Amino acid sequence: MAELAPYAVSEGNTRGRKVAEDAPQGRSEFQRDRDRIIHSGAFRRLEYKTQVFVNHEGDLFRTRLTHSIEVAQIARSIARRLRLNEDLAEAISLAHDLGHTPFGHAGQDALNACMKTHGGFEHNLQSLRVVDKLEERYAEFDGLNLCFETREGILKHCSADNAAKLGEVGERFLNNRRPSLEAQVANLADEIAYNNHDVDDGLRSGLITLEQLEAVPLVAKQLKEVRLAYPGLPERRVVHETVRRMINTLVTDLIRQSESNIRSQIPVTLEDVRNAPAMIAYSPEINEQQRALKNFLRIHLYRHYRVLRMSAKAQRIIGDLFGVFMADSRLLPPQFQSLAEHGLARAVADYIAGMTDRYAIREHRRIFAVEEGV
Ligand code: MG
Repeated sequence: MAELAPYAVSEGNTRGRKVAEDAPQGRSEFQRDRDRIIHSGAFRRLEYKTQVFVNHEGDLFRTRLTHSIEVAQIARSIARRLRLNEDLAEAISLAHDLGHTPFGHAGQDALNACMKTHGGFEHNLQSLRVVDKLEERYAEFDGLNLCFETREGILKHCSADNAAKLGEVGERFLNNRRPSLEAQVANLADEIAYNNHDVDDGLRSGLITLEQLEAVPLVAKQLKEVRLAYPGLPERRVVHETVRRMINTLVTDLIRQSESNIRSQIPVTLEDVRNAPAMIAYSPEINEQQRALKNFLRIHLYRHYRVLRMSAKAQRIIGDLFGVFMADSRLLPPQFQSLAEHGLARAVADYIAGMTDRYAIREHRRIFAVEEGV
């Protein structure tokens, strides 16, 4: 492997872990972070959480687990090409969605509404809370005791109020500094992954069509080339070949533009990266095109009436569960009753956020359906 760029995060410039530990044997600090994330309970639950489609709707749709693996794959390719710390980019990618509620965006909005007078709910902050506190797997500390740079990368956005409460990891939001390039890579890899797999899943579900997508330049260009090069290719393969080329276009453009940004900013150290403007970016032309795709998906897929119907159900389930536990905390499982001693609403939010789609549906039945076991 090529040597790391001097401004990449390394074992030499990491701010380390909250609780000091012996150096790992036979793997790097960031490989250890990745391994801890993979062995966490929250990571396994990603298999049964979804982003757009609810888990029982079909076996071929992305789950948060396969999404996170796709993000890691894209982030690693980019990090390697830019001589950044591939292990760190991978660890951030695998952990970035750990704090997500069941039922994707609808679930997050519902829980945030429930928590409005209790400090709100934000999935980014919750991902950090999972790795810092909620995972109970180690004898010597709460959470996973990850390196600062991994935690910093997980915290993608944050309000000033919340940042002020977070200490070191929140500081950059208060003094307008950037995270590591590895965190910037993971952030954009997330976007590349979901924009493209939502096109694929959206087409498979029949909620959007190829004809509609011909109005989106990023798709239209690749689609036209595929149809020209392979006349008579079956539609499913046309879709896969098109999506594959879209990912490639975005990744290639991102690498080229980021290399050029790095050349003009000439960072020498990790500190320079933090003080410079964001360097991981698309070219203006591709940025425009990927925004148009995002916009298309928002209008035609995320706001499709069938997606909205499922979202409405999800919101009802989460609202009902929140209400019932707030009214009587004795209905919570014992582990969350003890968490509730430090604040009931946050403990209820932790419990609900940790649920998978199907667990939330089942828990709702257990509590509200008389004929169901408890
Ligand atoms: Mg994501």
